[in-house]
Amino acid sequence: MALLNRVGFFLYNVCLFLTIGILFFTLKHYNIADPTSTPEVSANLEFAVTALVGAYILFALLLTVISIMQKARKKGVPYAISLGALWTFVMLMSLFSLLSFILSDDITTPGWKLGMVTLGVLFSFLPAMGVLLNQFPASIDQERVLEAIKKGLKNEERENLPFCPECRAKVEPSFKFCPKCGVRFMD
Ligand SMILES: [Zn+2]
Repeated sequence: MALLNRVGFFLYNVCLFLTIGILFFTLKHYNIADPTSTPEVSANLEFAVTALVGAYILFALLLTVISIMQKARKKGVPYAISLGALWTFVMLMSLFSLLSFILSDDITTPGWKLGMVTLGVLFSFLPAMGVLLNQFPASIDQERVLEAIKKGLKNEERENLPFCPECRAKVEPSFKFCPKCGVRFMD
């Protein structure tokens, strides 16, 4: 993906993997025709969803920490909105999957619960992409390569500077005296 740099591409894949994983496990027992008759999820399925949602929270935390540490780009309004939205949906997802005991029984029936976790992960994916595109664009890699080339050219320039015939110290072409040994130059 040419839109993101290497860090961004890695984080994109982690996010995609977690999103598809949560969708797969939560929708496995979902009764679309009649959500209220969605069967009670098995202990194994519950564990898989809970673990993946936990991993999604860790991912959001990792994404936030890395993007704050990364100073390559200024953080604008789209970045702040994306990050805010990401955490809102991550909280919604964790409320239904990890902390459902504090919700009322009406909205923790399996159909509701699975539906909200699914919506949470679907809507979390979009702001996560917003953060990634804002903070990890491929142009950062280009800037880094340009910087390295510029540095190399500068070093080469220094290598090609003339030197003092007496002490062999590097001197600027405009110098009239050697700054090291003081000898006067002819030209
Ligand atoms: Zn000299």
